[in-house]
Amino acid sequence: MSSLSILFATSEMAPWVKTGGLGDVAAALPAALRKAGHDIRVLLPAYPALKQAFPTATTVAELPAFAPGLPISRLLAAQAGKLELLLLDCPELYDRPGNPYLDVTGHDWPDNARRFGLLSRVAARLGQPDSPLGWQPDIVHANDWQTALAPAYLHYQGGAASVVTVHNIAFQGCFGRDMLAALGLPEHAWRFDGVEYHDQLSFLKAGLQLASQISTVSPTYAREVQDEHFGYGLAPLLRHRSAELRGILNGVDTDLWNPATDPALVTGYAANRLAAKRANKAALQTEMGLEVTADRPLFGVISRLTSQKGLDLLLTVAEGLPELPAQLVVLGSGDKLMEAGFVELAKRFPGQIVVKIGFDEGLAHRIEAGADCFVMPSRFEPCGLNQMYSLRYGTPPIVRATGGLADTVVDVCEDTLADKSANGFVLDGDTPHALWLTIEHVCRTWQDKKLWQRIQQNGMRRDFSWTHAANEYVALYRDAIATRA
Ligand code: ADP
Repeated sequence: MSSLSILFATSEMAPWVKTGGLGDVAAALPAALRKAGHDIRVLLPAYPALKQAFPTATTVAELPAFAPGLPISRLLAAQAGKLELLLLDCPELYDRPGNPYLDVTGHDWPDNARRFGLLSRVAARLGQPDSPLGWQPDIVHANDWQTALAPAYLHYQGGAASVVTVHNIAFQGCFGRDMLAALGLPEHAWRFDGVEYHDQLSFLKAGLQLASQISTVSPTYAREVQDEHFGYGLAPLLRHRSAELRGILNGVDTDLWNPATDPALVTGYAANRLAAKRANKAALQTEMGLEVTADRPLFGVISRLTSQKGLDLLLTVAEGLPELPAQLVVLGSGDKLMEAGFVELAKRFPGQIVVKIGFDEGLAHRIEAGADCFVMPSRFEPCGLNQMYSLRYGTPPIVRATGGLADTVVDVCEDTLADKSANGFVLDGDTPHALWLTIEHVCRTWQDKKLWQRIQQNGMRRDFSWTHAANEYVALYRDAIATRA
């Protein structure tokens, strides 16, 4: 089959700018598609971290002001390994410290509509016949609300087929009606089947309405978002477009997340060399100021601390852990009340519960390797990466049966142990009590070292590489091109 040219538009990309799963996907999926022989370029804002990382990036296009609310900008090209990056340089919009979406006080940047309107507009512009690069993709792949206006521009102004991928439907990018003209969208786009959504301009709704094809990051999530409870208002639209909607489970970066070669660990290990995992547990206990002991299971959390992740359930029951006995290490940041709750908890149980507020990539690796069990009782989880990292690191996760968690974690029971699929623990319900019962179950199971090892190995053997997902994306792109035609 012929190879495709693809523009992958994103608002974040690991390792330079990452707030969550999208950053990881934006690094790994284009790399996998490149490896499969496709001509893919990644478009993202030239944030300070990218300008620093690529000081020799060269200007490949000067772009005009596309609309009254959009400043002039330029495109820089940079080579990241084998991958070509297109950095959208507009200091007025992107030359800011810290988080790509929020200011230092944790509020949305007030001009996010313009910041990501421009990103979407430029993505679409590159997908048009007279692309300023002299390179025109067959497909513009938008991701989440920040680039979801690209399919709308392509719809109204003509150009390549488009795909929008929903990494998290809870964030939709809704702005005032005045943004319609400011961003250069035509008046007739203000319709229920255009970009209008409850009298607002919704970036994500526009993309879901107008993209050639839609995907979410797991099959279960693709079904869930069609349900009122998970759809955040967009379920009816997604049901209407269900023929063009599919779920493709994310892979993980198996080089970066490989317990055998991970440079962040004190010692590597593998499914057939699990004993070495113990040294990582001891090292983690030492690093974090936990009592160094092999006799208590160590539960780990790496997460945004928000109600989405269900960690309020853990906060409610965690004071029972030291008595079980078990230990807990939490790495995360987010909701200030939840942060304070975990910090307070750690103060009450020194040596048994420890919390680090912040973002720390190296520590995240050491927790995956050093913990015995990972806790991720999300209320919803489009795909989730940490449960897959946990499975790879022989750290069976506790999850709720939602989204990508349901597609990757198989609850331990007689049948699943017999067919060697059991790899973790699935909560029965969404209450603190349900979580507590599962924690107790984990502790009992963990005591049976042989059984525990079988569960670890089942998880470690599963293939989470991107190769499979990349093939599914190629099929999605081909369907998008057919739909557009
Ligand atoms: P989400 O995208 O909803 O935040 P995912 O599980 O899909 O959740 O992806 C989270 C990614 O961010 C993972 O790579 C995880 O390791 C990382 N991560 C989250 N919080 C932290 C943190 N405090 N420190 C380091 N890495 C973190």
